[in-house]
Amino acid sequence: MEEKDTNQNQNQNQEDEYEKICYICRRPESKAGSMIQMPGNMCLCHDCMQKAFDAVTKGGMDFSQLQHMPYMNLNLNDFNNIKLPDTEIPQKKKIKKKTEKSGQPSFSIKDIPAPHKIKTSLDEYVIGQEKAKKVISVAVYNHYKRVLHKSDQQPDDDDVRIEKSNILMIGPTGSGKTYLVKTLARLLDVPLAIADATALTEAGYIGDDIESVVSKLLAAAGNDVEKAERGIIFIDEIDKIAKKKNTNTRDVSGESVQQELLKLLEGSTVEVPVGSNQKNALTPMATVNTDHILFICGGAFPDLEDIIKERLNKTSSIGFKAELKDRYDEDPDILSYVTSRDLRTFGMIPEFLGRLPVMVTFTKLTEPMMVEILKKPKNAIVKQYIKLLAMDEVKLIFEEEALGWIAKEALKRETGARALRAIMEEFMLDIMYEVPKDSGIGTVVITREYLEKSGGPRIEMRG
Ligand code: ADP
Repeated sequence: MEEKDTNQNQNQNQEDEYEKICYICRRPESKAGSMIQMPGNMCLCHDCMQKAFDAVTKGGMDFSQLQHMPYMNLNLNDFNNIKLPDTEIPQKKKIKKKTEKSGQPSFSIKDIPAPHKIKTSLDEYVIGQEKAKKVISVAVYNHYKRVLHKSDQQPDDDDVRIEKSNILMIGPTGSGKTYLVKTLARLLDVPLAIADATALTEAGYIGDDIESVVSKLLAAAGNDVEKAERGIIFIDEIDKIAKKKNTNTRDVSGESVQQELLKLLEGSTVEVPVGSNQKNALTPMATVNTDHILFICGGAFPDLEDIIKERLNKTSSIGFKAELKDRYDEDPDILSYVTSRDLRTFGMIPEFLGRLPVMVTFTKLTEPMMVEILKKPKNAIVKQYIKLLAMDEVKLIFEEEALGWIAKEALKRETGARALRAIMEEFMLDIMYEVPKDSGIGTVVITREYLEKSGGPRIEMRG
């Protein structure tokens, strides 16, 4: 009996953590005020209750419609037990209540790792991209310091305002942009939403509207508004929303999207549907402040290299610097010379760039970096295969030359490190299929000849 009571209390407490939602207007408690609890676990806000009374007392109710309302003649106490044919009672999505300390993050400065610690942790997963890792570690550290500073209750003794340090990442595809952001969010234990800029369109047009990115973050935070408000939103393929050139029609997926993103990036309050990216009468809405959300935008920006080269060559062809002309043509790190002027030429609007003050470039992966990616990170592909075969008590060895061959092949495909996994799977399929057949096999060595199809893997038997 006592146990039942405790269970009931626990359930009650859990329910209390979530906001009640008005059954008619779908507004949560935080917006509509306290709710009137009705039988059948229904809640009504005071406004809707008043409207219902008014409708009845002023004769505004159309009683002829009663027959079309399936729940009208039911005893509301039985509401939970009935199941009407083809009539699904909509499941309520729950919004977590804001606590009294609302707006004040539940972590302190001691919880934010110092930049060198963030970088060391990133090093365990992300190979190369040293400059990018350093810049991002500092930017993230500063961002969370700003979050804490803003929510500090003490009045400011000076007028120094720490500005938001949203980040723009520029680099070839498969060079680790998304991977770095994912690793970062995991290390900091903050929710992360990854959105694709190509899916975004101006409000009112077919496609996802801008606020859907905040909706995704809220979902990643388990509908906990407070948690979402200190999360990270990564918008990939940002180069695809560059201003369209030579167009006479309205640019609903380019410049307009940049315009609409401005208010989110700099921090504003948005109403987002909970658990859906579409607003309708049945989805409850939550209010999210984007001021503390860290926005990271990433893109490959094809042709940007040409724009940079052209600018650099133009300046160096004047006067005594003329001998430097064409020296940039062979520079593999040309992206690192990017300026916001080049990005404007590319089609990004100045207001948009102004809201992404931290700019980092990623370098194209080289063959030695690819080999490192295969074997060094904590969850490296090679380590994963070794672990899989170790479960069959088989030792798997990759010859250094074989790894070099895979790296070379991956570079040819021009999709960055993404190609590594695909190549590896092609060759490992037969090994993973054949080896468990013969329990006598003790060691398998992947050789370059096996990959070049001029020989087989070296097999050593047990004992
Ligand atoms: P993009 O730059 O296009 O966002 P991703 O970050 O999605 O590329 O990279 C694809 C995959 O390649 C990642 O999931 C990761 O496994 C691997 N990868 C890419 N770059 C690196 C890197 N520098 N270090 C370690 N792994 C990497």
